[in-house]
Amino acid sequence: MAFDYCVHKLTGSVQHYSWGGTKFLPQLLTIENPNHAPFAEYWLGVHAGGPASVEVNQQSVLLSDIIASDPVAALSAPVYEQFGGLPYLFKVLDVKDMLSIQVHPTKEYAKVAFEKEEAAGVALDAPNRNYKDQNHKPEIMLAMSEFWLLHGFKSEAKILETLENSAEFQVLAPLYKSEGLAGLYTFLMEMEQAQVDSLLGPVIKRALRNKQDGKIDKTSPEWWVAKLYENSHGIYPIDKGVFSIYLFNIVCIMPGQGIFQDAGVPHAYLEGQNVELMANSDNVLRGGLTPKHIDVPELIKNIKFKHIEPVIIEGTKPCMGESVYPAPTQDFGIATIKLGGSYSFEHEAQSLDMFLVVEGGCVVNNQMSVKTGEAFVVFPGNKLNIHASGKTLIYRAFVPSIAAYSQHEEN
Ligand SMILES: [Zn+2]
Repeated sequence: MAFDYCVHKLTGSVQHYSWGGTKFLPQLLTIENPNHAPFAEYWLGVHAGGPASVEVNQQSVLLSDIIASDPVAALSAPVYEQFGGLPYLFKVLDVKDMLSIQVHPTKEYAKVAFEKEEAAGVALDAPNRNYKDQNHKPEIMLAMSEFWLLHGFKSEAKILETLENSAEFQVLAPLYKSEGLAGLYTFLMEMEQAQVDSLLGPVIKRALRNKQDGKIDKTSPEWWVAKLYENSHGIYPIDKGVFSIYLFNIVCIMPGQGIFQDAGVPHAYLEGQNVELMANSDNVLRGGLTPKHIDVPELIKNIKFKHIEPVIIEGTKPCMGESVYPAPTQDFGIATIKLGGSYSFEHEAQSLDMFLVVEGGCVVNNQMSVKTGEAFVVFPGNKLNIHASGKTLIYRAFVPSIAAYSQHEEN
């Protein structure tokens, strides 16, 4: 029987990375977690590392298979022509422990660097392989809780203040003044481990004391440095990523707010729950706080050495309950839909759209009921009517370049 490209339930894949929390995702997804395993990420997409599946006549079929069997029907002709597949990966994250410090390449650079690694014969799954594909990886995330992250280099004045007000970092101030951000960061990332340990040892010990004494809060880099080491046996060898905690902006965003991370902006998630939408790519250059491969020269090539004032994104004024979060990329778009019990949301999908219900529940097209933690996929050209059964919050992922965001008319 031919597949019906309309509306179907969608089930994602859980990633149990060690930094994940043990409660949030099991609760959201109604999964028992008797052994308190970490549930770090929930993926809705076609990534081979965690593919989502679609419910078809009570059976489960991979979304990637459905797209492969008729990409034009599943994605629309323009999206298929432009991207050759589903351009985005939609995720929910529960960050209990800090993630690695990272940066993503531009599309142009990823293409060249990928081909270089291919030509050099570095296997795709080799631990020292940097570029897994030829794509960029812009990311937008919306906070589901109070969410803390590192995002871009602080202002020049703030970095200078950090250096000059620290007994250990003072020696770095002249270098920063003469060589600038790139000179300072490169120097720190290339520093010998013994020197890193002797420079950062007292910094970490003081941070641990200050956190224990309640002298610092989450706005201070010391608080995060202390969190990183407070439960570990010994602090050596010290991770070079600690430098970044002092050099980057510490940002807190609240539920309903978002932030966009473009190529070249170094970042790291610190703590909280969020929804994240990114281009379908694995290209990550890491700068610490990870056991994974760190290629300092490639990291330096991909970082934009400029001071950043973080831009917190607020959604547009709601239209029939939907608020769109503008992201400067063609690969994806994201919106929240907030409904009460009294009115419906009308929508005509222009792309492969995914909906994830995180609060409340709804009935779609008078036939499919969707509960908290459930998701559904809508293929292009289908009309939707979403009727909430009470206070309901839904996230919608879509492809904006094609899905010329339609003004929803009331029925
Ligand atoms: Zn990232």
